[in-house]
Amino acid sequence: MADKKRAGVWAFINSRCPRCGKGKVFSGSMFNLKTFSDTLGECSKCKLSYEPETGFFFGAMYWSYALIVGSIIVGTISMNMLGLFDYAIYAIPMLIILLLPLVFRHSRLLMLYIIYPLMYTDKFYGTKRDENNLEELGESDEDIEEVK
Ligand SMILES: [Zn+2]
Repeated sequence: MADKKRAGVWAFINSRCPRCGKGKVFSGSMFNLKTFSDTLGECSKCKLSYEPETGFFFGAMYWSYALIVGSIIVGTISMNMLGLFDYAIYAIPMLIILLLPLVFRHSRLLMLYIIYPLMYTDKFYGTKRDENNLEELGESDEDIEEVK
């Protein structure tokens, strides 16, 4: 059976490779506005390509939308609980601007951690349709012969 090990939550928080959890995903610092979005092409440790197809990170837009809406909801509820709801109209847009690099990077990481293994299982786990895998899928050579 193919080894389907994946990196954990700690690797996700630290912006590490979704497969080995060691190589970096971003080349620049999160606190540098010029380089926070610079994404590496592949993992330096396990050589996992971070962009399995052109436009893969387009889907990160939906994750960032969800993260921003989530932070608006959490921010509004917590400011209301603290009795500071009147300031929410200023504080929440400030919070969103401050969280922008974090949201940008983690929406890309959500694509890599959740969507990548689901959509590109073979690329992610590095499995090839060799004899062992064919047997796992119940498509051994004998079955193929029968079809002919
Ligand atoms: Zn890796």
